[in-house]
Amino acid sequence: MSLIEIHQISKTFKTDTVALNNVSFNIDPGEMVALVGPSGSGKSTLIRIIACLEHIDKKGDGLINLFGKCVQANGRIHSSIKTVRKHLGVIFQSFNLVGRLSLEKNVLTGLLGHMPKWRGTLGLFRASERIKALIALSRVGILAQSRQRASTLSGGQQQRAAIARTLVQNADIILADEPVASLDPAAADRVMQTLAQINKEDKATVLVSLHQIEYALKYCTRVIALKDGGLIFDGKTTDTSPDFFTKLYGRKIDHDEASE
Ligand code: ADP
Repeated sequence: MSLIEIHQISKTFKTDTVALNNVSFNIDPGEMVALVGPSGSGKSTLIRIIACLEHIDKKGDGLINLFGKCVQANGRIHSSIKTVRKHLGVIFQSFNLVGRLSLEKNVLTGLLGHMPKWRGTLGLFRASERIKALIALSRVGILAQSRQRASTLSGGQQQRAAIARTLVQNADIILADEPVASLDPAAADRVMQTLAQINKEDKATVLVSLHQIEYALKYCTRVIALKDGGLIFDGKTTDTSPDFFTKLYGRKIDHDEASE
């Protein structure tokens, strides 16, 4: 069974912008897939739609299954997303941490879907849960900063904390929307390494949108390419070529520029 099934989805915003046009693909458990395409091609919209933060168009036969359960169809987000979301980790370019909270507390928020609401609201975490958060921080290499406020850390460290949050969540699917776009090359590489490590060790299925082609080539075995909201390539990374990326971006993309 595919973990992510995207069937003929389209998205038109109120401004009449067609962000996605009849896109279909499946992703199997354990894959690490790069979603690439020029700015405005629909990558972020697609990730947000799979995470059910946006709904698809009503017209057509568009539907999305996650873990074999229908989470969207006929332009409606189904209530099944509530249970599915527990095992769905989403990582954003802007990290989405609470700046005034420690890294440990930020990571513990990954457990909120897995505990009674009252305990989460009061921030009453068990010792075993705190240990889980510290282990996650250790795995992404920032245990020493666990008590530091998130806002005092570098972008790369904050993004690794966001990944640690998906670890305590036991996320089987990780959707990452341009997670390295605002990082310097060394920090970006470390974040991609961390995602690849979790994909390998925990068998988490990762869909990561990337502007930087070099990271797609280095870390992902499969590439899905969007252009003007349409899927124009879905295949092995090894089947892509510099020529392909030049055509995709409408100009030559070299490594220095890709990590600008
Ligand atoms: P990418 O992530 O590849 O840069 P996006 O998914 O952000 O592309 O955007 C795809 C298209 O949808 C763009 O034309 C963008 O301007 C448009 N778009 C994205 N979000 C909205 C929105 N909330 N309202 C209107 N148009 C939007």
